Order: sequence, then structure tokens, then C-alpha cells
Amino acid sequence: MNILNYINGQLIAPVSGQYLDNINPAEGKVYGNIPDSDSADVTKAVESAAAAFPIWSAMPLTKRANILLKIAELIDRDLDKLALAESADQGKPLKLAKSVDIPRASANLRFYATASMHVSTESHLMEGEAINYTTQTPIGVAGCISPWNLPLYLFTWKIAPALAAGCTVVAKPSELTPMTAFLFSKLCIEAGLPAGVLNIVHGLGNKVGQAIVEHPEVSVISFTGGTVTGKRIAATAAPMFKKLSLELGGKNPNLIFADCDFDQAVSTSIQSSFSNQGEICLCGSRILVERSLYNKFIAEFVKRTKELIVGDPLEENTRVGALVSEAHMNKVLSYIELAKSEGGEIICGGKQVSLSGRCENGYFVEPTVIAGLDQTCRTNQEEIFGPVVTIMPFDTEEEAINYANSNAYGLSATIWTENLKRAHRVSHQIKSGIIWVNCWLLRDLRTPFGGMKQSGVGREGGWEALQFFTETKNVCIKL
Ligand code: NAD
Repeated sequence: MNILNYINGQLIAPVSGQYLDNINPAEGKVYGNIPDSDSADVTKAVESAAAAFPIWSAMPLTKRANILLKIAELIDRDLDKLALAESADQGKPLKLAKSVDIPRASANLRFYATASMHVSTESHLMEGEAINYTTQTPIGVAGCISPWNLPLYLFTWKIAPALAAGCTVVAKPSELTPMTAFLFSKLCIEAGLPAGVLNIVHGLGNKVGQAIVEHPEVSVISFTGGTVTGKRIAATAAPMFKKLSLELGGKNPNLIFADCDFDQAVSTSIQSSFSNQGEICLCGSRILVERSLYNKFIAEFVKRTKELIVGDPLEENTRVGALVSEAHMNKVLSYIELAKSEGGEIICGGKQVSLSGRCENGYFVEPTVIAGLDQTCRTNQEEIFGPVVTIMPFDTEEEAINYANSNAYGLSATIWTENLKRAHRVSHQIKSGIIWVNCWLLRDLRTPFGGMKQSGVGREGGWEALQFFTETKNVCIKL
């Protein structure tokens, strides 16, 4: 299927007429085209977003919210179709797309549509002398750029608060997973979203993404992706004084204390290690286990890892699907080789998987567990973003915290303990934006979301995301 840009309410071809291949990673085969857009398309998109801004930002809140709610309803209606498209683009198990990605995409729209109707502003009385009131108004045209790993979920995570806050948007999904964003543009048309309010430009990051960030009329950028790209975006946007939210990479620790609920800790750690082939920024890729539990944990963890079925994403029993691209698969395999050269012992997995039939040319890698590495080596310092985890023992709580923090990233951490005091103590000492205690990936959209250190700046989620797309003004009136 040929994908088109969505600009000014129309589905249109790129100005250059050039297209890129869209590859199904489970089959290793081209299955469609995506626009190879450039700055000419971005200019058209920004012009249409700027023209729509006065209409959208002035629209009564309930009317604006109702359009977003309608889009959410249409996502739910098309759940199966969207899940299939997401699985075909990214290689993830269809079951996961159906149960997590797509429902969370409509949840994003519902949450921000309804939240926007409950915003209140402040006033401050100066003892009979003056009254101050504070307003928050939508900034203007927002640039929203998203990655490939949770395609529609993260795409809507960026644009839903922007639209709900009253901004108009120029958005770019990842060139590796464009299909759900294209289907989403059709749903926006069906829902009656006014022309120009949302514009979706497909193509490469260094052409389309860079042009969005550089465009002087785009005054706020919400980006989710890799840390290296985030640095480049920050360097471009900072001298133009753009407002920035950067959600970047992670190398998240998973701390298992001996007093944990063992079964829960093992089964959730399997999920936090290998869900979506380990291609979730919040996956725990460094497992740290208290020494007295280490042998028991490793035996059970490896046993259950070996039981995970790597297979065709469309099969009901598949737990680990294809990696997103051949280049990414080669990157993941090269990290396994690096781990070996650093002295790591592959205690399970470690190889590419060859399937037969439809998936014989797909990009599959065994879930891999590596032991024997310390926290300073590159394998433990760099984000691999695949089905690969390291595991090592610790002796004291202090040591566990030091290991957890011995990394440039600070996105999330998971702690397993039945000791309440320890849970609080350790949570407060780990430098990560999100801490899960005895659970993983539970998300309440009202809570702030974001990383520390090289995992990003700014907080998304809850009111903070709505506020991010607004600018604050104080009016002081002399009484
Ligand atoms: P990426 O940085 O390569 O690409 C992300 C998006 O940015 C894509 O749409 C890409 O086309 C675009 N892009 C690339 N160069 C650009 C440029 N110069 N200017 C503007 N846009 C540009 O990341 P990816 O490989 O798509 O995604 C994986 C990364 O995303 C991992 O590091 C992962 O941890 C991170 N991630 C973070 C979160 C989070 O919430 N913190 C969530 C999901 C993924």
C-alpha cells in the first residue's frame, strides 16, 4: 500500500514524487512505499498548521474535545486493522499490538480530550492593592516527532496533548513504522478534524525531522527517540528559543532483593526484559540480583526465557517477534559479540533465529541472557534496545543502588522487595524518572513521565503535558 502525507486535510504525494520502501521485518520484504518527503513538504505542512491555528485554538473546548473523542472511538472501532498494520510495520506480536499499543493510543486521546476540559487557572489577590490572574494559552504550531518501537501509542502520546491544548501540529512518525500514522490520518478526516489542525509528513529524520525542528514557525518540539538524535535536536532548537521536551533512551536497572515475591519477580522480569523484543525504552536490561537469591533466580529466569516462543508475529503463541529492521538486528547481534569480547558468558540465547515459511527472511534474535560482566563495560553502559539482558549479583543495598546509578541514562528502574521501608529508601536514591516497585509498565496517565540524566528533559503525562503546549501570562490589575 502506498502511504501519503496528510497536509491541510488532504492525503497527498510528496512534492519530490520520491518514495522509500516500507519493509515488513518479519518477512524481510518490501510491502509498500512511504513518501520520501523533504523541507518543501514540511513548509506546506507548517503553513497549513499556522493557518488553522486561529480556528482550532479559539474553538470551544467541548467541541475540540469531542472531535478528539471521536478519533479515539474510531481507533477502537479499527482496533484489528490498526494492530495488524502495527505488527506488519514493526514485527511485534499481533497480540501485543491488540492488547497494549492500540488501546493505549485511544486512551491517550481520551485522557487529553477530557483533561483539557478541567484545566483551571490561578489568581492572586495583593491585599486590596491589585489582583493577578494567570492565563495559559496554546503556543502555536507544535512539532511532534516519534520513534518506531510503539508506533501509534507514542505518536498519539505526543500529538494528543498538543491538540487538546489548542496547538496545531506538524508530526512525523518514524520512517520504519509509518502505516498506523497513515491510517490515523484517515481517521482524523473521518472524525471531522478541521483541515490543517494536524499535518503528518512522512520521511527520513535528517530531512523531514530536521526541517520541522529548524522551521521558525514551529515554536515547540515534543520528541521521543534516541539520545544522539535528542542532542542534535536540542542543539538546533536552543538558539531559536524553542520549547523542548525530549524523551530519550534508557538502560534500566531491575533490582531483585532476596525478600521479593519470587514468582512475581521472575515472571514480570521476563516481561520487562523481552516484551516487544526488548524494544521498549522502559525495558529492564540490567538485572541485579541479591547474591543469596542469585543462583535460584538465574535458574528459573533462564528456564522461562528458553520457553519464550520466537516466531511469526501473527501466531497466537508467539512471545518474541521480529526486530524492526535488518540494520537493527545486526546492531543487536554486534552487541552480543561485544559482550563476549568483554568477557560475558552467554547463558541463554545469543543467536539469530531462522524461521521457515512466511518468515524465512525475517529479522529474529533469541532472547539472550548474559552473565559475568561488570557495570562499567560498554554492554552495560550502552542501550542495545533488543532482547538482550545482563545479569549480575550484588551484596548490599548500597552496592545495588550504586550499580543502578552507574550509568549515563536515568529513565526507569524496577525494584522487587516485600520490605516497605527498603522500597521507599531505594526508590528515593535511584536517579530515574520512573520507579516501579513490584510491578512494571503500569501507567496512570495523570502522573508525570520522563527521564533524568541522558534519558531526557521535561516531563510528559498528566497536566504537565497540557501545560507544555501552552505559554503562561500573568496580568496584574491595580484595584
Ligand atoms: P531515533 O532517534 O533514531 O528516531 C526517532 C525519530 O526522530 C524518528 O522519527 C526519526 O526519523 C527522527 N529523527 C532522526 N533524526 C532526526 C533529526 N536530525 N531531527 C529530527 N528528527 C530526527 O530513534 P528510534 O531508533 O526511532 O527509536 C529508538 C530510541 O527511542 C531508543 O533510544 C529508545 O530508548 C527511545 N525511546 C524513548 C522513549 C521515552 O519515552 N523515553 C520511548 C520510546 C523510545
